[in-house]
Amino acid sequence: MDTKMYRNTWAEVDLEAISYNIRQMRNRLPGHCAVMAVVKADAYGHGAVEVAEKALASGAKMLAVALLEEAFTLREANITVPILVFGQVQPEDVPTAADHDITLTCFQKEWVRDVNRLSLPLPVKVHMNWDTGMGRVGLRTEEELKAITKEIHSSSSIRLTGVYTHFSTADDAGFDYFEMQHNRFKEFLDMFKSIRHEPTAVHIGNSAASIRFPERMYDYIRFGIAMYGLYPSDVLKEEYDIDLEPAFSLHSRLVHVKKMDAGESVSYGATYTTEYEEFIGTIPIGYADGWIRKLQGMDVLIEGERMPIVGRITMDQTMIKLDKEYPAGTKVTLIGKQGDNEIETDEIAEKLDTINYEIPCMISNRVPRLYT
Ligand code: PLP
Repeated sequence: MDTKMYRNTWAEVDLEAISYNIRQMRNRLPGHCAVMAVVKADAYGHGAVEVAEKALASGAKMLAVALLEEAFTLREANITVPILVFGQVQPEDVPTAADHDITLTCFQKEWVRDVNRLSLPLPVKVHMNWDTGMGRVGLRTEEELKAITKEIHSSSSIRLTGVYTHFSTADDAGFDYFEMQHNRFKEFLDMFKSIRHEPTAVHIGNSAASIRFPERMYDYIRFGIAMYGLYPSDVLKEEYDIDLEPAFSLHSRLVHVKKMDAGESVSYGATYTTEYEEFIGTIPIGYADGWIRKLQGMDVLIEGERMPIVGRITMDQTMIKLDKEYPAGTKVTLIGKQGDNEIETDEIAEKLDTINYEIPCMISNRVPRLYT
């Protein structure tokens, strides 16, 4: 099959924006600290291979994903830099990970023991995750730290190349919990250094922590949402004035435009009825594309003007109330800029009562990503 696009709906990913956002961040970081580009979940819906390649060309030194499958996708694209998998990987899958030189996350003594038993010809690289307050994965006590470090030390199947933690409130207004985690991390690091003397990479900060505390960052920052041009939270957006360029935009085209009489209804459930004679346009995007029904009432941009989605969003098609008659084929922007107007990802997130991270992730892979 060719890769021709048959549909009139697409997402645009501005790779220069990725590059720009990495430069913005690198300018704020101490020189010893490198960027690990977080490209899990298909680069937050932007396209993992394209974003990873651009991030590396823009100075990122390492990549991070959540799943082993995601790491293999990058290796299949001939990306050779270190790739860290954040999530748990079954011990039986470790030999394949080692064959592809993927760095895994370890946090369980039993896991270390099971991997030891595999007697790998070449050791698998691992980073140890310390749970300082995130409560997700990671080891939590001094005993666990000692036991795992000892087990790894005597293992020919595992090579410890890094340690890390993850903050759960780095983007919040208050700092108490963050400081508690940071202190806990420093205690862990001291304990670790007293029992293990070989150098290992250390990384603690996501976008929010590294924007707020660049001077506290160690060897890497794990750079996700801000690389895509979005602020981690409204709190940070208000506090900081770092210019970030959103990389993701979403577009469609009117495929049908009709004049309806007053009192006629639109879409399932007849939830919208025209008050006057109105022009209603149809765009080929719906909830199967991730443009979910809760977005009824949201605006889109046509020729730089806002116009509302009316009636229920259907699986594949959505209707717009137009301010005049437009020809079929007219461009409609659902996320992004047109003229002087913009519909930000943050606005969609607010409408859906969620965070901006979720928006590009939820636009399904039925929507082709075009790279500019
Ligand atoms: N580090 C870990 C362990 C993560 O799970 C994530 C994302 O959720 C990140 C870093 C990147 O975070 P952000 O997108 O807020 O920069």
